[in-house]
Amino acid sequence: MGTKVIKKRGIDVEQVQPGLTPPPPTAGPSFPKKPRLTGKSKKRDIPEGLWSKCPRCEALIYDRELDDNLKVCPKCDHHGAIGARERIHSLVETCTFEEMDAGMESVDVLRFKGVASYESKLAAYKKKSSLLKDAVVTGVGTVGSHRVALGVMDFGFLGGSMGSVVGEKLARLIETGTDRGLPVVVFSTSGGARMYEGMFSLMQMAKTCGALAYHARQRLPYISVLVNPCYAGVMASYASVGDLILAEPEAMIGFAGPRVIRDTTQAELPDGFQTSEFLQKHGLIDAIIHRRDMKTRLVNYLDFMMTGRRVLA
Ligand SMILES: [Zn+2]
Repeated sequence: MGTKVIKKRGIDVEQVQPGLTPPPPTAGPSFPKKPRLTGKSKKRDIPEGLWSKCPRCEALIYDRELDDNLKVCPKCDHHGAIGARERIHSLVETCTFEEMDAGMESVDVLRFKGVASYESKLAAYKKKSSLLKDAVVTGVGTVGSHRVALGVMDFGFLGGSMGSVVGEKLARLIETGTDRGLPVVVFSTSGGARMYEGMFSLMQMAKTCGALAYHARQRLPYISVLVNPCYAGVMASYASVGDLILAEPEAMIGFAGPRVIRDTTQAELPDGFQTSEFLQKHGLIDAIIHRRDMKTRLVNYLDFMMTGRRVLA
């Protein structure tokens, strides 16, 4: 008669339970079983914080190499998430970025109740990101020879969601651009409006687009760069109204996600649906640009669009 052994895995300890026919009790002194370590012991081979695994080609990449390559996989060109400050550093000339509204912080106006309170979430993300107070960094910097009103979103802060602070900071940035005659460049990556702020976050869609309309009246260019992922309220407002809409390769861009669309319409979605390549083919995006070429291309576009009104701010 065979004995079936059922293995239950706890967090770190493998417990072996007897099957249907337990073995006869053995005579003699019984010693407590030493727990066998599983799982974590395997990870010891790879020291944490030194290597990262590419989610696409699964190659192990030395973190410093990944940082030097602006978080793009050197093996397969997969564009990983990059922080707002790292991106700004890769775009503007050294020591030319003047940050605006750096101290602006979100307030829990609705006293949102959930599994975790909005205030505790904000505190956790501020601690995690250490240098961020919300999901966007705005300011004026020099790109090539141009002074530019630059806004960069960070998906790492509450999914890049747009609350009152994101909307207000961007609106102020755009208004600064309008007042000082500067082009506006915004890098958008977001899961959409911030649900913890309800209607207040939805109002940011109208506010940012209103500010952009005043900016456009001054015949100043607005370049929107879409970064993976860019969805919902952000895509339905300032991210999709650029004079020039650029994107990074293979970025997922849309309003509702593909799963929601598939379930709602019961239709088979085409290959590459909602990727930047698909959207370029269908006319929403003007150009797809590799992260390492972004600065050069931006300078080229700004040279072209700002001809005749070079601003020395
Ligand atoms: Zn890769």
